[in-house]
Amino acid sequence: MGIYTVLPDGLSEVDVIIAGGGTTGCVVAARLATADPGLCILVVEGGSNNDMPTIAVPALCPANLVPSSTANIFYKTNKEKQLGDRELLVASGGVLGGGSSTNLMMYSRAQRSDFDSWNTPGWSADDMLPYLRKVCTSSVNGCKRLR
Ligand SMILES: Cc1cc2nc3c(=O)[nH]c(=O)nc-3n(C[C@H](O)[C@H](O)[C@H](O)COP(=O)(O)OP(=O)(O)OC[C@H]3O[C@@H](n4cnc5c(N)ncnc54)[C@H](O)[C@@H]3O)c2cc1C
Repeated sequence: MGIYTVLPDGLSEVDVIIAGGGTTGCVVAARLATADPGLCILVVEGGSNNDMPTIAVPALCPANLVPSSTANIFYKTNKEKQLGDRELLVASGGVLGGGSSTNLMMYSRAQRSDFDSWNTPGWSADDMLPYLRKVCTSSVNGCKRLR
């Protein structure tokens, strides 16, 4: 099945609906489809397809940060006393692929204390480390130095 802007004729029932075709949504859809190719999976993305030059050509990606861009959603924060009562714009992916369509393609691993502060069994820095290593085994040599 492909990309549709309206539900295709005859589609009245699916096995899984994923809300948001961003980074996580697409990964989850792909993993589910690989695990069970017989599943009918509907990914509902609020933004457009990501076939735009500012996404296909990495050098043009700063254009996605212009507030009129439709590639990102710009959330406005509350006024912050610590910022002189200013509101900030926080960009978030707003097309198919979400942030992975518009991000700057830099890899950085969070600090141990960030994971540990979740204080959630199974999600500590030690629990996460094997998966974080898996992410960077292919090409990022710098990862090998980190513990
Ligand atoms: C400009 C920018 C630069 C970044 N640079 C980097 C980087 O260099 N390195 C890095 O590691 N990370 C970077 N990030 C962060 C990274 O891309 C995100 O953390 C990651 O993509 C978030 O994934 P997610 O699945 O949580 O959300 P998203 O990928 O944002 O997915 C959410 C999806 O839901 C959709 N959606 C929202 N509301 C609705 C709705 N009501 N109905 C249907 N769909 C909806 C959105 O359009 C979006 O596609 C960057 C992010 C941005 C925005």
